[in-house]
Amino acid sequence: MIYLNGKFMPIEEAYIPVLDRGFIFGDGVYEVIPAYSRKPFRLTNHLDRLQHSLDGIRLKNPFSNEAWQNLLEQIIAKNAGEDQYLYLHITRGVAKRDHAFPANVPPTVFIMSNPLLPPPAELLISGAAAITAMDNRWIRCDVKAISLLPNVLLRQLAVDVQALETILIRDGFLTEGAASNMFVVKNKVLLAPPKSHLMLPGITYDVVLELAAANQIPHEIREISEAEVRTADEILLTSSTKEIMPITSLDNNPVGNGKPGAMFTQLHALYQQYKATDMRGRPSDAASR
Ligand code: PLP
Repeated sequence: MIYLNGKFMPIEEAYIPVLDRGFIFGDGVYEVIPAYSRKPFRLTNHLDRLQHSLDGIRLKNPFSNEAWQNLLEQIIAKNAGEDQYLYLHITRGVAKRDHAFPANVPPTVFIMSNPLLPPPAELLISGAAAITAMDNRWIRCDVKAISLLPNVLLRQLAVDVQALETILIRDGFLTEGAASNMFVVKNKVLLAPPKSHLMLPGITYDVVLELAAANQIPHEIREISEAEVRTADEILLTSSTKEIMPITSLDNNPVGNGKPGAMFTQLHALYQQYKATDMRGRPSDAASR
């Protein structure tokens, strides 16, 4: 069951008018929230990021955080699976085609849920391949905009060569993946690019840095040059749906020794432990600190 503009319905029954500005202009934002054991993970952080995205496109938030929480709990209850990922999508509504914002038009609000599965075990054992490409997106990548055409084209470059992800480089520095954040390991230090308007502030990125800090793993948040990416001992990918994954080949060259490294093994174990306890164990909102 999905939610569309005030109603719950099967997805096959959900339609939007062709003049929806999401369809016409890609004029909207979205959010993806994992739910473990039917509890939305770090709901407050996700709703804060949604507010930041809405502010970025000057669209009023249609709901209070309490109303969002209530809707999400209903969607979770109406869908199968203990672990789900919730997709929230808000557009500037339906109006005659004109770039300027329409006056007094209600936004379109859509929520769906899909099963959340852990990444395939083979990929965690062997590691995944990635390629690099120039980050040619706009310079508000901190806004989770539904207009994802550059991300779609960049990610397809990876798919075309059977790689998992495209790692993006802007002006000689690592930004993120086409649909994920990236970490680099050099001399046993975990390196993370600093949050800025050039990347999406990942919630999983935060979790990984918190786990590193809590477990005395040396880490630094700083600009990472393309050369450092290319000579990394390890490269790690994070996202809500992919958790943490090892990248063991980059542009057809092995990363480090070409196998998942010690930093991946440690952080993956810590992430699984955290998932089993905090992510599943607490009431929805207490999980966010
Ligand atoms: N960067 C981009 C461009 C993304 O699309 C995503 C999520 O899919 C991420 C980073 C990771 O964010 P999160 O950890 O909140 O899923």
